[in-house]
Amino acid sequence: MNTKLWTVDVKEDLSTNYPQITQAARLLQQNETVAFPTETVYGLGANAKNNDAVAKIYEAKGRPSDNPLIVHIAEIGQLKEIAEADSAQAETLMKHFWPGPLTIVLPCKKGVLSTRVTAGLDTVAVRMPDHPVALELIKRAGVPVAAPSANLSGKPSPTKAEHVIHDLNGRIAGVVDGGPTGVGVESTVVSCTGDVPVILRPGGVTKEQLEEAAGPVLIDQGITDEKKAPLSPGMKYTHYAPEAPLAIIKGSLKNIQQLIEQYQKDGMRVGILTTEERAGAYRADVVRICGRRDRLETVAAGLYDSLRSFDEEKPDFIFAESFPEEGVGRAVMNRLLKAAGHRVIEA
Ligand code: AMP
Ligand code: MG
Repeated sequence: MNTKLWTVDVKEDLSTNYPQITQAARLLQQNETVAFPTETVYGLGANAKNNDAVAKIYEAKGRPSDNPLIVHIAEIGQLKEIAEADSAQAETLMKHFWPGPLTIVLPCKKGVLSTRVTAGLDTVAVRMPDHPVALELIKRAGVPVAAPSANLSGKPSPTKAEHVIHDLNGRIAGVVDGGPTGVGVESTVVSCTGDVPVILRPGGVTKEQLEEAAGPVLIDQGITDEKKAPLSPGMKYTHYAPEAPLAIIKGSLKNIQQLIEQYQKDGMRVGILTTEERAGAYRADVVRICGRRDRLETVAAGLYDSLRSFDEEKPDFIFAESFPEEGVGRAVMNRLLKAAGHRVIEA
């Protein structure tokens, strides 16, 4: 398959007949797959109502069929068509965070969406992205758009169009390049099907922000406790992993450097994922900076690009520094722990 590439300048007015977006929307209407930027990561979109279209997402990504997809909408009117939206909590959350990096799980309306979207569950995950290209594309397609991250299953999510092309060129119908995404980690997934909202996946909207808007929220224990099954099917899979094995490293800079040298003595090329504040302290074979430790949102924004960039240098082993589990640091650590297969080393 020849993958079309359109470049869009997000600073221009996209609402007036922008031909790139019209062409991409037409492909969605023809039940083809199109990758597009959102404020979190690039998504791989398809018509959420059509079985064949949704099947193409799973096929292109190599995604397990029991991992349901997030449905993206551009207008609040689209919500009532696909979900039972009478939860007061959900309404509060939507008012505060939509458009934005918050996905809300609600009871699903029957017979509207492809059953592949929900992987047979009776709930559906819905989000309104805060990105002009995503919103305009969904509006013009005129259908709800199922869109997981536009990477091969298991790989770090794409934050640039070139990441999408690296993973999916020839496997999807098109890519809209709207430049790098902003938030850098995926949306927070919150279930609003019970009495209290439950975070199923930490992400761009923090627990603190959710509680300020809507009162107490719970965190699914399955996210942090490896022994418990997560409520969200996707959380059980390995994800975000670069090619080399990776472990999270805790300890003083001196001890971490000693460990790096020990691995090097054993003949390994060692990589370290670090921050601007600490990069100068390491003598490793590959040093990658994901952001600034004193501004965790920069770490979230740079995380996947730096994880991917290790692959070019082919280290034998990667150490990743750990981050405080507060604010967006919760999402960063969740992704790093998955990339590490939960391996944490104390130096
Ligand atoms: P991705 O689109 O690849 O960022 O992943 C979407 C995440 O949302 C995965 O962890 C899914 O398992 C989760 N998800 C999607 N639909 C549902 C649902 N109905 N209930 C619980 N989790 C869901
Ligand atoms: Mg994903």
